Amino acid sequence: MNADDFRSRRKSVPVRVGNVTVGGDAPVVVQSMTNTDTADEVGTAVQVADLARAGSEIVRITVNSEEAAAAVPGIRARLDDMGLDVPLVGDFHFNGHKLLTQYPACAETLAKFRINPGNVGKGKRRDPQFATMIDIARDLDKPVRIGVNWGSLDQDLLARLMDENARRPEPRDAIEVMHEAVIRSALDSAEKAEALGLPRERIILSCKMSGVQDLISVYRALAARCEYPLHLGLTEAGMGSKGIVASSAALAVLLQEGIGDTIRISLTPEPGESRTKEVIVAQELLQTMGMRAFTPLVTACPGCGRTTSTFFQHLAEEVQTFVRARMPEWRREHPGVESMTLAVMGCVVNGPGESKFANLGISLPGTGEKPVAPVYEDGEKTVTLKGENIADEFKALIEDYVARKYRLESHDQQDSAVHG
Ligand code: SF4
Repeated sequence: MNADDFRSRRKSVPVRVGNVTVGGDAPVVVQSMTNTDTADEVGTAVQVADLARAGSEIVRITVNSEEAAAAVPGIRARLDDMGLDVPLVGDFHFNGHKLLTQYPACAETLAKFRINPGNVGKGKRRDPQFATMIDIARDLDKPVRIGVNWGSLDQDLLARLMDENARRPEPRDAIEVMHEAVIRSALDSAEKAEALGLPRERIILSCKMSGVQDLISVYRALAARCEYPLHLGLTEAGMGSKGIVASSAALAVLLQEGIGDTIRISLTPEPGESRTKEVIVAQELLQTMGMRAFTPLVTACPGCGRTTSTFFQHLAEEVQTFVRARMPEWRREHPGVESMTLAVMGCVVNGPGESKFANLGISLPGTGEKPVAPVYEDGEKTVTLKGENIADEFKALIEDYVARKYRLESHDQQDSAVHG
């Protein structure tokens, strides 16, 4: 059973977000969020462009002030000028009802609104403020993500469920009640939105948690109780490897069970690190799970005492960087190239075997081995490289392989055979 079999288990109602479909039979969509001040029109447009070019299919921007709301149409115009049609999502908290009302061009420009039911307003103001945003979405035919975050959970709802629980003959654990409050916040808000006239096929839900097991429990229950597409993400995942591991652990379990229609990896960038890392991690998660292909992946051995050279590590990195840099053109000119596999191995123990399973593989000489590097193409040894220019020669072989194997016309012919 492969990942597609699992995914086919949960059917969600497809939702159009700009030119992208989330849910239904659509592949899992990769999205991300900027960390610029949205009022900085140029800076935000540049970062959205970076994220989109890295492969983010939807980009969210915070809309937290009048200046931010006023900047949204200009950001969109700049992206359009760059030829980027990536849908922009506005993230609203506390004052979204005012901003969407007072800045109609902002509302019109955005492809989706994200509304956090815990941050819509307190007491009597909550329902009318929520209704204002839903009315605007309904009238403009915009989808909405009802995005619950356990850190800003509706405290009135939580208190009510805690009271109800305390009156039960056998009260449940507080953590179970909290999970239920997160789920109910999303489902009740979606029900209210539908009652206000927002069609079901304009609603996406998320219930972000910061604990891996909490996230898995909540999404399993949420998936069983509704048909809305689900946006997956571990909130406050953290920095570096911790953030990547925690997000991947949680999302992989859910994706494998067919839960999740769009994902965001919420990484805290290390100082100076590119925001695009979260896009690359999301793509690599989906690709290593066999759910989508975005860019050729390089298999590399970890290295061991059989090779004291770090040359193969540098070569693996150089090859991955080269492939990423070439992808924008390859994607246009060589459809199908994203599923190509490459291997860079450190010695002959596993090198030739792994190389044979890749489309192109190279096995570098280990300590004491003859200083030659056999290259395999689709399982056959084709050439042996040696000397100082192995890296450049291997990259030339990759370029040549791509040109021969992923030809536009043969892809078009295959395509018309399939669709004709
Ligand atoms: S391929 Fe060779 S160098 Fe790499 S981990 Fe295996 S034995 Fe070690």
